[in-house]
Amino acid sequence: MHRPHPAAMTGTRRPLIAANWKMNSLRGDALARIAAIIGCARASAPARGEVVICPPATLIWTLREALQGSGIMLGAQDCHAKPSGAHTGDIAAPMLAEAGCRYVILGHSERRAAYAESNATVRAKAEAAHAAGLDAIICVGESEAERKAGRAIEVVMRQSVESVPESATPSNTVVAYEPIWAIGSGQTPTTAEIGDAHAAVRQALGRRHADADGIRILYGGSVKAGNAKPILALALVGGALVGGASLDAQEFWAIVESCP
Ligand code: PEP
Repeated sequence: MHRPHPAAMTGTRRPLIAANWKMNSLRGDALARIAAIIGCARASAPARGEVVICPPATLIWTLREALQGSGIMLGAQDCHAKPSGAHTGDIAAPMLAEAGCRYVILGHSERRAAYAESNATVRAKAEAAHAAGLDAIICVGESEAERKAGRAIEVVMRQSVESVPESATPSNTVVAYEPIWAIGSGQTPTTAEIGDAHAAVRQALGRRHADADGIRILYGGSVKAGNAKPILALALVGGALVGGASLDAQEFWAIVESCP
């Protein structure tokens, strides 16, 4: 069943650094990367943040074994809203939980765009994740056109209200603010813009969740070793969702070590 989040148990809120490997890696290079990440972890002081790796679904069982005893958690990149059924090619939340996942990324902008996932779909998936005992990492973020039109705050607030279900608590939900134009582009918002967007997400969550202040909000979009520190130092930033840079063990661990 669902385990209380360590942060909820201690009253502290450790940052979360989540690696989104997307559709990258076969078994051999995945195992080599995990060995390198564990090597970095052993060579450093204990991580101030929590770390979760979200590989492609085919690698979940392999990584479960490889991560054993490392303290690094395992996650997935999507799940279906139903616990079972005639949904060819999909994976249900209980399957991910059985395979050893603690987290599941939901509503990533690449899925919202490629599979027309609406806020309602993301919300239903998050409910399914919670029912299976998984922690949901729910992604929100504006497009470049929306930011240019001055609508970034309105868009992320609406996505936050509509994508985060009633079942969300600080121990089962993390929201990731990921401006679409920053993903994989090398561009990042200013720290002031990140702060404003995170405040908007927090405000939106506060409309429907009494304990909204405890829900961690990650920043995602071209986070690298070189820019992680000032982003992770922002008061409302509870960690990072890292795509491209998570495929390089040393770069990824440098981001983990940038946690305040
Ligand atoms: C992502 O896709 O979740 C992401 C943050 O990607 P990148 O770090 O490569 O911008």
